[in-house]
Order: sequence, then C-alpha cells, then structure tokens
Amino acid sequence: MTDSNDDPEATIDPDEDGGDPTALGSTDDQSVPDLDDVVLDNLDTGTGEASDEASRGLFDDLLEGEPIFENKEVLRPSYTPHKLPHREEQINNMATILVTALRGDTPSNILIYGKTGTGKTASAKFVSEELETTSQKYEVPCEVEYINCEVTDTQYRVLAQLANKFINKNIDVIDERIDELEDLRSQAREDASELSDTDYDSLSALDAAIDDLEAEKDEFEEVPMTGWPTDRVYSSFFDAVDYHERVVVIMLDEIDKLVEKSGDDTLYNLSRMNSELENSRVSIMGISNDLKFTDFLDPRVKSSLGEEEIVFPPYDANQLRDILQARADVAFKGDALTDDVIPLCAAFAAQEHGDARRALDLLRTAGELAERDQIDDVEEDHVRQAQEKIELDRVVEVVRTLPTQSKIVLFAIILLEKNGVHNINTGEVFNIYKNLCAEIDADVLTQRRVTDLISELDMLGIVNAVVVSKGRYGRTKEISLSVPTEETEAVLLSDSRLGDIDDVQPFVQARFDN
Ligand code: ADP
Ligand code: MG
Repeated sequence: MTDSNDDPEATIDPDEDGGDPTALGSTDDQSVPDLDDVVLDNLDTGTGEASDEASRGLFDDLLEGEPIFENKEVLRPSYTPHKLPHREEQINNMATILVTALRGDTPSNILIYGKTGTGKTASAKFVSEELETTSQKYEVPCEVEYINCEVTDTQYRVLAQLANKFINKNIDVIDERIDELEDLRSQAREDASELSDTDYDSLSALDAAIDDLEAEKDEFEEVPMTGWPTDRVYSSFFDAVDYHERVVVIMLDEIDKLVEKSGDDTLYNLSRMNSELENSRVSIMGISNDLKFTDFLDPRVKSSLGEEEIVFPPYDANQLRDILQARADVAFKGDALTDDVIPLCAAFAAQEHGDARRALDLLRTAGELAERDQIDDVEEDHVRQAQEKIELDRVVEVVRTLPTQSKIVLFAIILLEKNGVHNINTGEVFNIYKNLCAEIDADVLTQRRVTDLISELDMLGIVNAVVVSKGRYGRTKEISLSVPTEETEAVLLSDSRLGDIDDVQPFVQARFDN
C-alpha cells in the first residue's frame, strides 16, 4: 500500500475500509465529506497536470477547437437550398407548365426523371414553395401536396395521407368561417342593422348557418392509417379535395418505389379523377429515379402521367464544384477549406454518376474528420478518408440488408478468402454454402440459384465474378471479394442467424472433403 494510514484497523482489514456503516457513525462530530470532495481528493493523488486535465470535461477540448463549420446544417440532405445552380432549365420548364394552375386551369401532368442526387427533390420543393407563395399573393386557390412514396408506399397510405391533409385544410377553412359568423352574431345581437349587408336576414338564419357549418365539419372524418376499405379512403379524399374550387398539384416523389411495391392502381385512380371532380382539379407530378419505370404502367396511366417529361441529367465535375462552392460559402468558416477540397469532392462525386448528394456528403464528412483531428483546415486527405468512410458505410448498409440466403453465400465466399483460397469457383462456394445452411437450418437452394445470387452480389459491387474459360472443361466463374473482409464479416455475423455459427473451420475443411 502506498498511502500511509496510521489507523491500524484499516490496514488489518482493508475490505472493511469505508464499507462499514459504523465507521460513518463514528465520525458523527465531524462533517461527512460530500461526494464532490471525495472525487477531488482522489484526483489530487495524481500530478498537478492530471488534476488540471480532470477538471476539464469530456467536451471541453472539442468545444475549444476553432470550429471549422459556420453552419453545418447547410450540408445536410434535409436542407432545401434556395439557389439551385445548373437546374435553371428544369426549374423553368416546371414553372412554365405549372403556371397554368395560377390561371385557374389544370396543368398537364409531369413526369420527372433522373438518377439520385441530380436535384429532383430539391427543385420540385423549390418550385412548389414558389407556386404556393405566388398563389397566396394573387389569392388564387392553388395547393401543392408533396408525398414521398418511399415512405408512403401503398395506395391506402397515399390516399389516406392526401385525404387527411385536405380534410384538415377544409376544417381550417370552416373554422375560420364559423369564427367570422360568430363575430357577426355578437355584433348583430347588439345592433341588428349589422345584418343588413349580409346573406342573413335574421339572427336565427345566422344561427342556422353556423349549425350547418358545424355539421359540415363533423362530416369530415379523418381517415385512420389502416382498416378502411380502399374505395372508402378514395372517396374521402375525393370529397375533401372537391370541397371547394381549387387546383391541386400532387407531387409523388420516388414514384417508382410506389409502383414497384403496390402497382399502378394509385396512379390510375388519381389520373382519372378530373373527369369526376366538380369544383377542383388535380394535376400529378411524378418524380422517378428509375428511367424505365413507366414500362410497368398500364398504357392509359403511362400516357396520362407522361404528358410532359423533364429529364434531370447527371452533374459533371464542374457543375458539382459550383454547387459545392455555393453551399461551402455558408457552411464553413472563412478559409477553412484548402484549395483542393472542393474540386476533389466534385471529382469523386462525378464518378458516382454525378451525384450532388454524394458530393455534399463528402464535403461534410471531410469537414467532420478535420474537426476530429482538431486542425483548422480541411485538407485533400480528409476528402480521401471521407470517400473511404462513405464507401464503407454504403457496403455495410448493403450487406446488412441482404436477404439471408445472399448473406450465407457471401459468408461462404468470405470463409474461403480468409482461408487463402484464390480464384474461388462457384462449386467451392456452393459446398460451403450447403454446410452453412445445414448448420443454421436454412433451406438449401440449387447451385443454379446460388450462381444467380453470386451475380447479384457482383452487381451490388460486393464481389467480383469474372467468367474464365477452362478450355475443354468449359467455363467457370472466378469469384473474389470487392469489399473489406473484416468489416463485411462483422456485419454478417451481426445477423442473428449467421451469428449462431460458432466454429466455421469445419465448413472450410469441407471444401477439401467434397
Ligand atoms: P434527387 O432528388 O434527384 O435524388 P436531391 O434533390 O435530393 O436529389 O439532391 C441531393 C442533394 O444535393 C440535396 O442536398 C440537394 O440540396 C443538393 N443539390 C442537388 N442539386 C443541387 C443544385 N443544383 N444546387 C444546389 N444543391 C443541389
Ligand atoms: Mg429525391
């Protein structure tokens, strides 16, 4: 023991030290040290420096480092920019079509195509905000409803969400009207002449009108998120939109996801509404990442939806630079970025099919890495690290969400690689795959299906499978892993089914037994 303690009892039985309640009792005449003192005492046993450091909290250093960011939010996907360089043409096209709505007519339906990160959502939201602002300015009844079909992905949900939005808007309108009439009523009670210029010739007529409005309001019943027959949801939506005169633009973002998941019934129903609506008009703006998704549509839906088409081409590296520069000016402190940072982010993202989202992710992540290094500027190397990190995150996400069978196939490939097998062929993968399936009680697919799954992994960029000719022995695939082994294995083992496999060595051994 290093600390000198002249209390003999304490040294005889160190376990009792401080643990005995009677010991506390014996210090009755002294004040019991409170917790803060104890902590400080303990820390003081170190060097002076240590105590200095200890009094600093976990966040002190991080807070003190000269921050790189002025406003990081600007780099996040949730931020909607108000300037969209290199999308002027697309935005003007949309506006030219939609301006019809401000004249009280029905705009053509629009279909917007483009790969992810080409600014479709940002442009559509920008246009819809402008449209609504202008419609308020000129007091024309025009409304835009935005729905992300990746989240709202069934006909029921799309219709229910639309119905409820319009039901609530209608209720607001009715409430406003009721308030007006109630004001009028209290004025009329004091001075009956208040009614002279109105539609109501008596207080009782006014009462009746208010009652009518209350009854109308009660008729708007919110649609529950499940449980109703779809045609009831549809008619709720229909009645709610048609409640008064207006032009409604429905933006269906990620519309390809909706069609993929639930077919084209929703689009069919929405696109034929106008022939039945009496007061209002509906126009649809569909946004798709998949250029071919209309191939799956009913021809009537296809021609109705695609009245106008606008394409968002990928950005090139120069355009990405402009986009990044505009955002960086707001996001970063004065000279936090070294010269190479933006061009490199732009170059990486240009390779990634001109994806502005990727470019912004890279820039933000590079900034965060510099921040973590506690240095004042973001350098080229941070961008390279950011690229690796994002790529790894992508792989982890792709692997994590693979179907179990694909995970087993991938695991088999990993086991072979880890055991030094090169130029792995399908037969070898299949043998190990079979054993793994037996171990975890999974169905065993045919070798043909396993070959297909390997091709899918190839397309996802997780493995690389090249067909090689073996002369008169025919052709075979040579498979190798395109992603980091350790990280990928860890993701696979985090799946509860695969995680059950304890000892994998016997499976690899099986390769030689077969
Ligand atoms: P998409 O919907 O086509 O997948 P988004 O509109 O979501 O793409 O754009 C992805 C990211 O890039 C968003 O953060 C968006 O703000 C930004 N972005 C895209 N195009 C531009 C542009 N021309 N100017 C500024 N930011 C842009
Ligand atoms: Mg989008």
